[in-house]
Amino acid sequence: EATPPSHFLRQIVQSDLSSGKHDSIVTRFPPEPNGYLHIGHAKSICLNFGLAKEFAGACHLRFDDTNPAKEEQEYIDAIKQDVEWLGFEWAGNVRYASDYFDQLHAWAIELIKAGKAYVCELSPEQAREYRGSLTEPGKNSPFRDRSVEENLDQFARMTAGEFADGAKVLRAKIDMAAPNMNLRDPILYRIRHAHHHQTGNKWCVYPSYDFTHGQSDAIEGVTHSICTLEFEDHRPLYEWCLNNLPVPATPRQYEFARLNLNYTVTSKRKLKQLVDEKHVDGWDDPRMSTISAFRRRGYTPASIREFCERIGVTRSDGVVDMGVLEFCIRDDLDAHAPRAMCVLKPLKVTITNYPEGQIELLNLPRHPKEDIGVRELPFEREIYIDQDDYMVDPPKGYKRLVAGGEVRLRGSYVIRADEAVTDAEGNIVELLCSYDPDTLGKNPEGRKVKGVIHWVPAAASIECEVRLYDRLFKTPNPDKGEEGAGFLDNINPESLIVLKGCRAEPSLAAATVDDRFQFEREGYFCLDSKDATAERPVFNRTVTLRDSWGN
Ligand code: ATP
Ligand code: MG
Ligand code: MG
Repeated sequence: EATPPSHFLRQIVQSDLSSGKHDSIVTRFPPEPNGYLHIGHAKSICLNFGLAKEFAGACHLRFDDTNPAKEEQEYIDAIKQDVEWLGFEWAGNVRYASDYFDQLHAWAIELIKAGKAYVCELSPEQAREYRGSLTEPGKNSPFRDRSVEENLDQFARMTAGEFADGAKVLRAKIDMAAPNMNLRDPILYRIRHAHHHQTGNKWCVYPSYDFTHGQSDAIEGVTHSICTLEFEDHRPLYEWCLNNLPVPATPRQYEFARLNLNYTVTSKRKLKQLVDEKHVDGWDDPRMSTISAFRRRGYTPASIREFCERIGVTRSDGVVDMGVLEFCIRDDLDAHAPRAMCVLKPLKVTITNYPEGQIELLNLPRHPKEDIGVRELPFEREIYIDQDDYMVDPPKGYKRLVAGGEVRLRGSYVIRADEAVTDAEGNIVELLCSYDPDTLGKNPEGRKVKGVIHWVPAAASIECEVRLYDRLFKTPNPDKGEEGAGFLDNINPESLIVLKGCRAEPSLAAATVDDRFQFEREGYFCLDSKDATAERPVFNRTVTLRDSWGN
């Protein structure tokens, strides 16, 4: 593998190791289990796990589970599966921010005792008013000067469940006039009478993200806490917490630009809405931008890792073209995927001069370059070609089969179209052709045949369903549309085309969900992991052979 291009975080790690600031590094990937991971998370996974791997450090998987109302075990399981599938291993056990609830609670009490936190009873609306704005300083809460004793008592009663959700909060006492809004007495603890997937009913007060993240990093000995740019403004608060508590280590936070991809959305909230409102068939619908959707669609972990490396890591926001991701999967599959033939819209062809009942077993290479063996393909009197590969009135440059013309069947003979059989409405239902027995593996004598088309034997092929996917949104930035229109208005109505009655070459009967194929001339395909059965194979198109979006 080529050395990856460097980026600022790699350089920071390198210099922290060479200066002796750290002997080894610890990073973490901290998803909130409130949805499935998307391609943006893949960037963070590749970065955090990738740096740990590259520098022989450790990367933790830590669930940032401070908001029980939105979190579920299903999401935890899916996230673990996605990280492993991408090819990464977390160091030690899976961790949960909730593992540290006892410690965080004890630290909150220490802050109260030091006069650095207080229980506030302003309503959310009042609190917003007191907070001020970017141009105006905030005002001190009337509860700010409560005594330590009163705060200790109030916090104990919050913890004991005496008050309703939202009635009171614990706030840090920092500076209501701070230019950074995050320092205007931020919330440390909220009341939430909710069952938690890890801690059950033990708690009815939960720490805020800001009071949890840095301390969890410190407890775990994280050296480089890497997050996205929207947390840059939180860094002073991250550091305030660490500086005011007896934490066992001092992690540092670094920010990078999040990944935005055009023609899709990367926000768990929006992805959840697509699922809940049934615009798609679940989180792993192959049109989604989730990692599980890419897996079901046939993307390889290597192609996603390559994509994340290729787009780089910077501190400036931008939108990456979906074409880059598609390039990465095409590149990977072109190099490794076995070739096969599948006719999506079958047109029966009878080769009138081929003896009835005769079968020839042809051997076709599985790959044009890699030596991965051959597959057997029977040639029979009746075969299928694609309806689009025969035309009565062809446009200029059409290199397939026309009335009276010749074409080569991939890996087989040259045939000539003699007659088209039509039904009562004039639709072509069958072609009568003749073959040139002298053209197997060689050019015909005295004439040039330019076109090559794919085909399958009629009796020996297997019937299957094929699903063709396109981008889920028809506009590059689905969030920005007409005035008042939302991303749901930009769904591409042609993002899924289901073709039934397709015919696949017999070797595809042995396909498993881990296999990926190039169906010649049609694209890259894999079995659908949810809906395919032995009796009814269903193939998903991963990506077309070429970029058809003009990028
Ligand atoms: P979403 O807005 O989709 O809910 P999130 O940031 O709230 O995303 P988390 O579960 O908190 O989701 O994310 C876990 C980690 O993944 C965080 O460190 C976050 O910064 C990172 N991450 C999330 N989205 C992206 C993205 N688009 N690009 C890069 N990293 C991301
Ligand atoms: Mg988050
Ligand atoms: Mg979120």
